[in-house]
Amino acid sequence: MFKKNLAQLKAFNPGPSLDEIKKKYGLEQVVKLDCNENVYGASPLVTKALTESFLNPSLYPDCRNSALRTALSARLGVEENSFLFGLGLDEIIVLISRTFLDANSNIVMAWPTFYEYYSHALIEGAATQKIPCNAEGRHDLDSMLAAINDQTKLVWICNPNNPTGTCLSDSELRRFIQHVPEDVIVLLDEAYMDFADRNDFPDALAIMREHSNVLVLRTFSKAYGLASFRVGYAIGDPKIINELEKVRPPFNNPQISQIAAVAALNDQKFLKECVRKNQEVRQMTIDYLSEKKIDFYPTQANFIFVKTEKAAEIAEQLRAGGFLVNPFPTGLRITLGTMTDMRRLLPLLADAWQKNAKNI
Ligand SMILES: *Cc1c(COP(=O)(O)O)cnc(C)c1O
Repeated sequence: MFKKNLAQLKAFNPGPSLDEIKKKYGLEQVVKLDCNENVYGASPLVTKALTESFLNPSLYPDCRNSALRTALSARLGVEENSFLFGLGLDEIIVLISRTFLDANSNIVMAWPTFYEYYSHALIEGAATQKIPCNAEGRHDLDSMLAAINDQTKLVWICNPNNPTGTCLSDSELRRFIQHVPEDVIVLLDEAYMDFADRNDFPDALAIMREHSNVLVLRTFSKAYGLASFRVGYAIGDPKIINELEKVRPPFNNPQISQIAAVAALNDQKFLKECVRKNQEVRQMTIDYLSEKKIDFYPTQANFIFVKTEKAAEIAEQLRAGGFLVNPFPTGLRITLGTMTDMRRLLPLLADAWQKNAKNI
């Protein structure tokens, strides 16, 4: 009855709810550090814009997302018809998969990386080539290049990579893209680009301008703190964007989401402040983990990946202490919380690490 490939997939499992954890451990408060949401919230201008706007519940929203399109175009210096908007970057991934993939095609991606590249390829019947990250938790670009064949349609690059937090440099990425055939689309998922502060972080828009097969993907969910509103977008050659537009549901971004995103974009001061606080917490966390000899990948994002085979056990201990984090088979992804929360979390982590260390 169902598509055969679905047998290989499981529905997204959000894990225990905050209320369930509170009840289980008798806690008054649980800090949510499992989804890389912005722990500093969103710009106050967002609430202001929403209360001051005329919201029209009975009309379909502007299907072109015009105000956001114009604002982004001006800010990024990219022409307006180079944008595709989605209900979160999640939907952009769905649209890209639907547009390019079928049973005769494959994708090349890192592993671990953002799971939805994999699941949506599978749903379209495409083969998935998962290339393990190297020992540093970074994309193994040489092996990814070697995996590209005649059936390859898409190559997914997540930079900084979720869940490892690691980064590719401008020169590494450029060298890679120079070797990718022009009829293979390279997706640069930059969900966390605002948090990166390395001088050699890629200028993805410049790379996109030089290579018509490159699409840059971004979202308002992370640094802008609008995860609830579901706004993501792709930037690329209008020829590719036009094909993707055929697949997009016309009224995908609600009016309130469009208003919220424009307001968030206009508050660059708030964004910079969040990025600055994240950098401080990130450095403090790195210093702490290094001193305690806890293994982690260097991160350029608003989360950190602690390497352990006991992630499930450690995550459970952190829950008992009032922190919800995200366990993976090879480690623990922890959203960087506020300084206050991280100062409480880190000793609990060190303790849980100690208790589980003998088993690694
Ligand atoms: C969070 C995330 C997304 C999806 O973001 P939404 O805009 O909230 O759908 C896409 N890619 C990566 C790497 C992410 O971490």
